[in-house]
Amino acid sequence: MADLSLFSNEQIAALLSSLPDPAFIITRAGRYAALFGGTDTRYYHDGSSLVGKYLCDVLNEEKTAWFLAQIAIALAAGGLHVVEYPLAADDIKGVGGAGPVETIWFEGRVQPLQYQVMGEDAVLWVANNITASKKLEALLRMQSETDALSGLPNRRKLISSLTEHFELFARYKTPASVLIFDIDHFKSINDTRGHLAGDKTITTTAEVCRRELRATDFPSRLGGDEFVVLMPHTGSIQALPIAERLRLRIEEQTGATISGGLSEMTGGDLSYEDVLKRSDDALYRAKRDGRNRIVHR
Ligand code: GH3
Ligand code: MG
Repeated sequence: MADLSLFSNEQIAALLSSLPDPAFIITRAGRYAALFGGTDTRYYHDGSSLVGKYLCDVLNEEKTAWFLAQIAIALAAGGLHVVEYPLAADDIKGVGGAGPVETIWFEGRVQPLQYQVMGEDAVLWVANNITASKKLEALLRMQSETDALSGLPNRRKLISSLTEHFELFARYKTPASVLIFDIDHFKSINDTRGHLAGDKTITTTAEVCRRELRATDFPSRLGGDEFVVLMPHTGSIQALPIAERLRLRIEEQTGATISGGLSEMTGGDLSYEDVLKRSDDALYRAKRDGRNRIVHR
């Protein structure tokens, strides 16, 4: 604990106002009793007009209720309560014009005070702008789920989508089909026209998938020249013409043909792996039967 007798009141006031992150004192009823620091408008709105107001004067109904609940949790716990929350322009009713315009993410550190303020229990709420690390987190998540060459979702993302849709199927019998396809004689494209031409075939195939499929369909690159399309809410009878159209369009756009295996989730399946295996077996048959075809099973 610092020896406050070393500081004058003016020095303590100056110290509090130079805190980098805004520190609010907010009462249990949601009244802003005081604000210290957080004056850099690159990171924070000017909150000086908030003092004396209530949360509901400043925030929309939903955010007000959320803030009040967090204050109550911190007071009940009697110790530090840490929360993360976004604040967008339409959450806020009236702060000064200067400050960030985009949605800001905050980490709030909410510490109950040992004494009452304006006759009420109160907390010290320190808000730290964590937007940059939230953005980085979102970017890293996106990159970890995206295939760098084609821009399609990668195997990791495919598996989480398959898991999710298998659960929907198991619980609600929502149908879903899975198409696996593989470019025919892809090695010879690489060997005769070069690796870049091979890459171009992959990226064009991905573009055709994005263009030809419904927004709810989920194309992904499994690896190499293998792709998987998950078609939610679609039985394999409806999926077959979609797969056939894709096959024709890919040939038109790339000059390469594909072979595919198609199947749907069925009652006996224990996990998404069963349907994937059936599609893979069908793909194997399509290759064996002469390629450039979709086998449905
Ligand atoms: P099949 O008709 O039986 O599928 O014959 P294939 O020649 O296509 O054989 P396969 O699918 O086994 O070959 C895949 C080849 O794809 C092998 C690998 O060298 C090549 N490959 C894998 N990833 C990439 C990539 O990112 N770019 C390029 N250009 N080639 C790749
Ligand atoms: Mg191949």
